[in-house]
Amino acid sequence: MGSRDVPSIQAAVPSVDRVLRLTAVRSLIETHGRPVATEAVRAVLDDVRRRLSAEGEAARPLSTQKAIAARVLATIEERSAPSLRPVFNLTGTVLHTNLGRAVLPPEAIKAMVAVAGGPSNLEFDLDAGRRGERDDHVEDFVLRLTGAEAACVVNNNAAAVLLTLNTLALRKEVAVSRGELIEIGGSFRMPDIMARAGSRLREVGTTNRTHAKDYAAAVGSRTALFMKVHTSNYIVEGFSTAVPVGELAALARDHGVALVVDLGSGTLIDLDRYGLPHEPTVAETLAQGADLVTFSCDKLLGGPQAGIIAGRADLVARIRRNPMKRAMRLDKMTIAALAQVLRLHTDPDRLAERLPTLRHLSRPAEEIEAQARRLMPILAGCLAETATVDVSPCQSQIGSGSLPVERLPSAALVIRPVTGKRGSGAALKRIVRALRGLPVPVIGRMHDGACILDLRCLEDEAAFADQLVHLRPA
Ligand SMILES: *Cc1c(COP(=O)(O)O)cnc(C)c1O
Repeated sequence: MGSRDVPSIQAAVPSVDRVLRLTAVRSLIETHGRPVATEAVRAVLDDVRRRLSAEGEAARPLSTQKAIAARVLATIEERSAPSLRPVFNLTGTVLHTNLGRAVLPPEAIKAMVAVAGGPSNLEFDLDAGRRGERDDHVEDFVLRLTGAEAACVVNNNAAAVLLTLNTLALRKEVAVSRGELIEIGGSFRMPDIMARAGSRLREVGTTNRTHAKDYAAAVGSRTALFMKVHTSNYIVEGFSTAVPVGELAALARDHGVALVVDLGSGTLIDLDRYGLPHEPTVAETLAQGADLVTFSCDKLLGGPQAGIIAGRADLVARIRRNPMKRAMRLDKMTIAALAQVLRLHTDPDRLAERLPTLRHLSRPAEEIEAQARRLMPILAGCLAETATVDVSPCQSQIGSGSLPVERLPSAALVIRPVTGKRGSGAALKRIVRALRGLPVPVIGRMHDGACILDLRCLEDEAAFADQLVHLRPA
């Protein structure tokens, strides 16, 4: 085909105005507005012209009014779809930071929706008819569940640590064991947070061993705090010693400094009763003598992203007065959700049913395996010639730096590409991409040349199975 033919084919491409007047496109203008529709029409027409000049006659079917209208619709749908959307977390990491950590219970979602669309008594005391405190909606629950004298809430645990240090140790020294100078996910490094809080870090002991006498030797006129950081995402094993909270609390009292414990995950209940490994609870840590405890709300607590500072009333009062608190305060929807998640904790007998995080963590391996057996033939059918699917035992992890070395026995669908000439690496990548391309993207993990779908967190089995027909590993 000679380039001489191109102008005549190009002439067949309708104008922007003409396309905008098509009935199908007119309804798009009504739903999405003229600017969005016009932009999409322009983009489609530009592409059609490009394809015509590159491919000539072969691209002509793209230039019909019907084809153009269909593509305009697809373009608008694609562009107006939210960027942030639900996925299936089949990574085997229950609290996956990149996938939004804890999944909220329906009670919390309902409470968020109830306050989202209109005014609420967020900072208004309905009894007294005057200004109230937003933290009041959650504080009583925290006190009841932890035995703390007072508590305040901020955006996340990183903010809780920052605000605590900035309030209690500005231009002062904070003694921390060298074994606890942690980094979490790259952006939270204890020494950096301390520097930004305006506190001076006083490193104590060694990486593997820190003794009470090391803390005692570190105390000087500028010491404001002892800080103990829960080494959430690693453990020091072998020849190691750390000073327990109770002993450190007594030492802090003797030297007239406060003890702050960053618990990280901060569970409010004894996980043993759900067959899970023990994690120090906030109540235990306070009972052992910590003056303040900080912890996340979207890790083992199973709530929305937030951080809680709980402990001595005089210290919490000073933290509340810090102007930086204003920059870290929670919004009404998070408060609404958090209050409900805390309320559910007041009934530990039913918590494992009602709180998704705990439900996922305590799910028996046999139940997960039975689910895998039900889904295996469906997935295998959809992957037909491209891959084999097996059911295999696997190990889930809790995630988000909670109980890093503990593993939970689980079951997975293991997808192995049928090796062709193009190599299994590329074939595996295509399968993983196809899973991500599903209407509700499926995120698994790659291991040993296979894609592993750990079903521990799969609750809506029907929704998962129904969308598999769209699976096209191309
Ligand atoms: C997770 C964690 C943090 C950070 O908490 P976010 O709620 O993610 O801000 C801080 N300290 C410890 C020990 C943690 O485990």
